[in-house]
Amino acid sequence: MPQPPPDLLVPAPALRDLFAHLNQVSGTGYECDHRFTLTTAFLRDRTLQLGDTLAWLGANGAGCDCEVIFNVAQRWGESVGYEPLDDDELDDDDMEPIDRADSPSPPRSKPWWRFW
Ligand SMILES: [Zn+2]
Repeated sequence: MPQPPPDLLVPAPALRDLFAHLNQVSGTGYECDHRFTLTTAFLRDRTLQLGDTLAWLGANGAGCDCEVIFNVAQRWGESVGYEPLDDDELDDDDMEPIDRADSPSPPRSKPWWRFW
């Protein structure tokens, strides 16, 4: 089990919830405004450290809400118990090869008498 970031300022479950929250909102078609609008609202709601946490996110590669998902969740998600939905899981393994009982096509020999 990977360790949560040692310098994290909020409880690991709070960070996990933040990832999940941002991921869920972005899945509804929300377009990032290149700021920490959602992150700020989330931290305020929970009365968590605001300025220092944003600075921590910045230090970990995020300059806005979507980059929290792209960069921080990518890096630290697993260590705080966040499991992103895996799109790839939806469409594999159910492509059973159909057993066509095709007999191998007979060799097409040119009828020698036609073009001779
Ligand atoms: Zn963004």
